[in-house]
Amino acid sequence: MRWSRYYIPTLKEAPSDAEVVSHKLLVRAGMIRKLTSGIYTWMPLGLRTLEKAKQIVRREMNAAGSIEVLLPMVQPAELWQESGRWKKYGKELLRFKDRHERDYCLGPTHEEVITDLIRGEVKSYRQLPLNLYQIQEKFRDEVRPRFGLMRGRQFLMKDAYSFDVDNESANKSYANMKQAYHNIFSSMGLDFRPVEADTGSIGGSFSHEFMVLADTGEDAIAACTGWPECSWAANVEKAPLREVPATTASCPAMEEVDTPDQHTIEELCAFFKLEASAFIKTLLFMADGKPVAVMLRGDRELNEIKLSRLLGADDIQFATPEQVKAMTGAEVGFAGPAGLKGVESIYADFELRGATDWIAGANSTGRHVAHLDLARDVELPIVWADLRNAVAGDPCPCCGRPLEIKRGIEVGHIFKLGTKYSEALHAVFLDENGKEQTMIMGCYGIGVSRVVAACIEQNYDENGIMFPPQLAPFDAHIVCLDPKNEDVAGRCDAIDAFLAARGLEALYDDRDERPGVKFKDADLIGIPVQITVGGKGLAKGVIEVKDRRTGEKGTLPADGFEEAFPAWYESVLAGWKK
Ligand code: ATP
Ligand code: MG
Repeated sequence: MRWSRYYIPTLKEAPSDAEVVSHKLLVRAGMIRKLTSGIYTWMPLGLRTLEKAKQIVRREMNAAGSIEVLLPMVQPAELWQESGRWKKYGKELLRFKDRHERDYCLGPTHEEVITDLIRGEVKSYRQLPLNLYQIQEKFRDEVRPRFGLMRGRQFLMKDAYSFDVDNESANKSYANMKQAYHNIFSSMGLDFRPVEADTGSIGGSFSHEFMVLADTGEDAIAACTGWPECSWAANVEKAPLREVPATTASCPAMEEVDTPDQHTIEELCAFFKLEASAFIKTLLFMADGKPVAVMLRGDRELNEIKLSRLLGADDIQFATPEQVKAMTGAEVGFAGPAGLKGVESIYADFELRGATDWIAGANSTGRHVAHLDLARDVELPIVWADLRNAVAGDPCPCCGRPLEIKRGIEVGHIFKLGTKYSEALHAVFLDENGKEQTMIMGCYGIGVSRVVAACIEQNYDENGIMFPPQLAPFDAHIVCLDPKNEDVAGRCDAIDAFLAARGLEALYDDRDERPGVKFKDADLIGIPVQITVGGKGLAKGVIEVKDRRTGEKGTLPADGFEEAFPAWYESVLAGWKK
């Protein structure tokens, strides 16, 4: 494709409303343009990347046995009233009336429409299981559309729905889709993790979010370093941590130490000249009106979700200074497990069981205890529990390898729905015994347009985008430094034809522009390989090549280019696979 005949309006400056890198670069690279809040036009170059993403999704969904359909975007209110979501969905659902005053909405998702379709068509167990998907625009009137393609109002989604005769079969459908999602995101060349997601009442492993790892991601994830052999990952707040066996280490006799005015862990660290990990942090709460003491290692953060689940309490508040005094007999800052009176038991994080010889508050103003052995020196019963946030280095709950903390962008979500919609919409079939049964459903979404943004959040530098080869709008970028020079232009034409014969699509910058402009644009757009042809190079018998990802430049012989290019190109692709 010759740039001079194409349409790539690149910009030097990003629009002022662009906060995240992908938004800035997509606009600057001329790939998208904003029409209005949360609604974007796909420009030619952007559309090519979007199409590549769609093709990968399509290929893997087809391979997994899902069948493509296209459902209408405009949906009648009656279906949403039947499912109960007309009232529940809130303002994200864009509603409107037709000329007959009938209510409609723009589809934010398609459970109602697909269930309505299937209930009218599928009558027998012989027609099941069935898995249908579509790739289609969705509309959600998001409260805060932002970050460009990341949270749009109109966006492209691949949504699939499975229908099964029983739970066992539905679980198989779910596992099949989970594998398909692995294949899709791997094929796109993205670094991702499936993360167990909240399923509310369904529970267990029947919902996973697929996260593209990027420092700018909204979610903090604890992920196993054993990837891909171990694919365990969870939201940091939800990551369960293992029990720790009791230590057998001995500990000198406990003693009280004067620590006037040393209230916080930081102050204590300076005072004792020790790391925060040497201390026990005691947190006092009122949980539904009852005093509660929680102990963690000094350098750890309490996980409030885990605590409230453990206590089964709705209202957990930090104790006031008066309540602290009532519980410990001391001012704030001197609470500890030994000699604590005002609570029934102590909730202690597993980690504290694995070591001894702690320093903790002495429940006496201005005093701490050293050489504390929890098993030996504490009178109250101790409830050992998982109470803290996961940190890097904690053991993976699945395989024991260390965890790492990453940030992620949700690009996909799979969910076992059960009978929520099939019951509400009466999607039933006759089983082998002629008995009516309700279908078991699953739903599986991918934010295809969000994938494009997430891919950039994962792959960019100060000069622009670095597209993974699988999602790049073109395979190669030919930079013609002197289109007026016949020799140079002829060489570029020949390279373009050579690449095309190899099945590689090239963007051929034949514009009458300064080299600096062309190089900047090439880096901005981020096609994985750049091939630069100029008069000076040709005089020396070379053609310059550049790997956009590493920035590494090299030269290939002008005369032996066709022989030398494949090996160099393979080495660039191989670099992406690492
Ligand atoms: P989020 O928590 O980000 O709002 P969601 O839970 O509402 O996502 P789903 O209903 O599971 O999302 O939709 C499936 C996929 O569609 C998501 O995983 C995400 O990739 C994408 N998606 C959802 N909302 C948007 C949006 N406003 N803009 C772009 N993509 C979106
Ligand atoms: Mg949402």
